Amino acid sequence: NQVTPGESARADFPILATRLGGRALVYLDNAATAQKPRRVLDAITAHYTGANANVGRGYYQLSHLATDVYEQARATVQHAIGAEHPDEVVFVPGTTAAVNLLADTLGRDLVGAGDQVVVTGMEHNSNLLPWRRLCESVGAELVVVPADEHGTVPVEVFAAALGPRTRLAAVTHVSNVLGTVNPVREMVAQAHLFGVPVVVDGAQAVPHRQVDVRELGADCYVFSGHKMYGPMGIGVLYGRRELLGTLEPYQVGGGTVKGISTTERVRYVPVPARLEAGTPHIAGAVGLAAAFDYLADIGWDAIRAHDDTLVRAAVAAVSDLPRVRVVGDPAADPSGIVSIVVDGIHPYDVGGHLDAHGIAVRSGVHCANTFVDTFGVVGTVRLSFGIYNTEAEVDLVRDALRTVQPGFWTAEHPTERFL
Ligand code: PMP
Repeated sequence: NQVTPGESARADFPILATRLGGRALVYLDNAATAQKPRRVLDAITAHYTGANANVGRGYYQLSHLATDVYEQARATVQHAIGAEHPDEVVFVPGTTAAVNLLADTLGRDLVGAGDQVVVTGMEHNSNLLPWRRLCESVGAELVVVPADEHGTVPVEVFAAALGPRTRLAAVTHVSNVLGTVNPVREMVAQAHLFGVPVVVDGAQAVPHRQVDVRELGADCYVFSGHKMYGPMGIGVLYGRRELLGTLEPYQVGGGTVKGISTTERVRYVPVPARLEAGTPHIAGAVGLAAAFDYLADIGWDAIRAHDDTLVRAAVAAVSDLPRVRVVGDPAADPSGIVSIVVDGIHPYDVGGHLDAHGIAVRSGVHCANTFVDTFGVVGTVRLSFGIYNTEAEVDLVRDALRTVQPGFWTAEHPTERFL
């Protein structure tokens, strides 16, 4: 039977029955990690109870079965993201791991002294620091294209930052702070005019929209399973075959070698195994595939419509609360995120107050310190929605915000921030 987002999806998520401090859990930190539907939990359990063995390493039936299951998960991801070939899908621990892998392989291949790497001013630290460290270590320049006061990076501004010294660009698809959607297709097209490959951080996009890597033209597209209702510890590095095929292994070890002797040069296997040294997270891949299937069954149009409803409801709900401001324009192209500030009250105090009402939100800088600085605030309070959230929960947030007061952080550490 068809699951629709909202109230009817809640029954699929066992954790939503949790009560904390006598209150029902209102989980609005989906941008940090999403909860897992029974379908994902069952797929993981079924894997461990019926098919667990190491992959590609054993000549016995159970190992063949595990290998088939793992490669089937890869094919599911391939089709879900519109990749042309299964070997363009590399399983990694997550977005952070994927970007580090790329910075240390592709980055080191392409970027040298005096070259430039272009990123936007709205990157999560995970799509910023690996590039920054690469640039520092090879003597290249990291060019940060600033976001404007609405929190967007217009494509012309991005294009103007590209030049003959640009070797690589890395951009987020959707901002984890404001939910802003970058015009990735146009950005990629501009970069390609200079022959510059583009790495896209899709961590906040994949839970909210059907991503088609070929339609976007992305050379690499990376994301985490856990933000799209899949397990933690699994993520995807998609790379165009011609590009991925040129990379040397990032880590070496079991599963990466074709032939090895003490005298000859080591020969490595082709991708994806070349980039998946060691025992992979097989159950994670299985759970991730189940999450993609679950979302496809719900339907991307329904998911988008639900995001639209909740984001607009949240913007409207807080609009007549004194002192509450929405940062950016989340309703322009809703991606399930609304970031607010309460004037005169530290975001940690707001977060603590909401928590006392059973509402889980993230407050602070959201691992995007420099982007949050753009808005001249110490941090924001981020409401991030998932398929099981409801308008009734938005009303609970509004009601709780009516009584928020300055607390410990506002009084003692008004400008301090950590997270
Ligand atoms: N990029 C973005 C846009 C994110 O929102 C996140 C997670 N907050 C990451 C990268 C890092 O993802 P992970 O922690 O799963 O590696």
